Amino acid sequence: MSAKAPGAPAACLVYSKAYYADIGAHVFPTEKFARTRQCLLERGWATASDFAEPAPASDEDVLRVHTRDYVRKLQTGTLSQLEIMTLELPWSAELVRASWLCAGGTLLACRIALRLGFAANLAGGFHHAFPDHGEGFCVLHDPAIALRALLAAGEIRRAAVLDLDVHHGNGTAAIFAADPQVFTCSIHQQHNYPADKPPSDLDLGLPDGADGVAYRPALERALAATLEPAPDLLVYVAGADPYIEDQLGGLALTREDLAARDARVLEAAAAAGVPVVTLPAGGYARQVEDTVLIHATTVRLGLERRRAGSPR
Ligand SMILES: [Zn+2]
Repeated sequence: MSAKAPGAPAACLVYSKAYYADIGAHVFPTEKFARTRQCLLERGWATASDFAEPAPASDEDVLRVHTRDYVRKLQTGTLSQLEIMTLELPWSAELVRASWLCAGGTLLACRIALRLGFAANLAGGFHHAFPDHGEGFCVLHDPAIALRALLAAGEIRRAAVLDLDVHHGNGTAAIFAADPQVFTCSIHQQHNYPADKPPSDLDLGLPDGADGVAYRPALERALAATLEPAPDLLVYVAGADPYIEDQLGGLALTREDLAARDARVLEAAAAAGVPVVTLPAGGYARQVEDTVLIHATTVRLGLERRRAGSPR
C-alpha cells in the first residue's frame, strides 16, 4: 500500500465514502464521517487534495489482532444473537466491508504520519473491539490492526495509544496488556461504559461531571507518561464524547475545552518529535453538527500544526 495518493503528495487525511454503513436508527451517527469531510472542505480547513483513499486491511493484518473464528463469523454473517447484542450494531455485509476499509484507512494514516508528522483517519478508533468479539459499536480494533502491521513490518519499534474518548479503551488495554512495544493510556469517565475496565498502562478515571479545568492535570499526566520515552508513533483516539452535550458521556467539556485538549496533545507530541495520527472514535452529541465540528476541529488543528512545521 502506498502512503502517497497519485497527484496529492501531501495528502494526509484518509477517507472513503464506503466508511458509511446503514445501521438504521441508531445513536451512532455513521454519517459523521462524510459530514466531517464536508465540514473541513466547507470551512476551507482542508482541500480535496488533502484526502487519500484507503484500501481495505488484508485478512493477514486483521488476523494479527482478531481470532480466526471471529473473522469467519463476521465474513459469513454467523455471529450469534448474543454477539450481535454485545456489538450493539446490526450485522451487514456493508458494515463488515466498512470495518475492513476503516482498518486499512488507519494503517494508511499511520504510514502517512510516519512520513509527514501528522495524519488523520476520518473514521476509526474502535477501541472496544476485542480479539474474539466486537463490543460497543466496535467491529474491528483498527488501531491495533495498524500498529501490529507496522510492528511486524519493522516500520516502528514502539508506539503509544492515547485514548481520550469518554469511555475507557477496554479493547486496547486487553490487546496490548502483555505487549511492551505499545504503551496504552486512557482518560475516561470512571462511572461509564464499559463496566469491566482491563488495566491500560495508565488509566485516569475522572468523576462524573468533570470539566475542562479538572481535565487539564489528568491530560498533563497522561502526556508525560505517553511521550517519555518518546514512541515512534502516537495514535491519538480523540473521542468527541467528553463533550458536555453528549448523550452517552457524563463529562462537561465544552467545544473550546476539547479544542484546547487537541491542541495540547498535538503540541506536546510535536515538542517530543513524535508523529501523530488522529482517529475520531465516539461522539454522540444531541446535535450531530456538534460532533462533526469537534472531529473536524481535531483535524484542523493537526493540519495547522503540520503546516507550521512538523517534527519530521
Ligand atoms: Zn466513547
